[in-house]
Amino acid sequence: MNRMRSMLYLKDVVTLAYSPETCTGCGTCLQVCPREVLRRSNGKIEIALRDACIECGACQRNCPQGALTVKAGVGCASAIMNQMLGRKAACCGVDENCLS
Ligand code: SF4
Ligand code: SF4
Repeated sequence: MNRMRSMLYLKDVVTLAYSPETCTGCGTCLQVCPREVLRRSNGKIEIALRDACIECGACQRNCPQGALTVKAGVGCASAIMNQMLGRKAACCGVDENCLS
């Protein structure tokens, strides 16, 4: 199992969306994504590992075409990360020690 696959957190909860119609295939999102969620495909990109996305928003902020959208900082990934950092955050219910 590769490293990213071992870091998946919950299935089918990520808000990441991709619009291939507006993507120019510039590759910027591939450079800024910290989780290898995206990969090249036929001159554009595709979402290869959706459940590894931590909804950080880097791809959305850096895409010059607005082809990627994600609700950064509001999802379950954010809640888990806030908990790991000792911050209070809305709980997604996945962890009994959530700090809500
Ligand atoms: S940054 Fe935007 S336009 Fe560039 S490859 Fe990624 S999705 Fe496509
Ligand atoms: S939100 Fe962050 S982790 Fe998810 S695809 Fe975009 S850059 Fe990668």
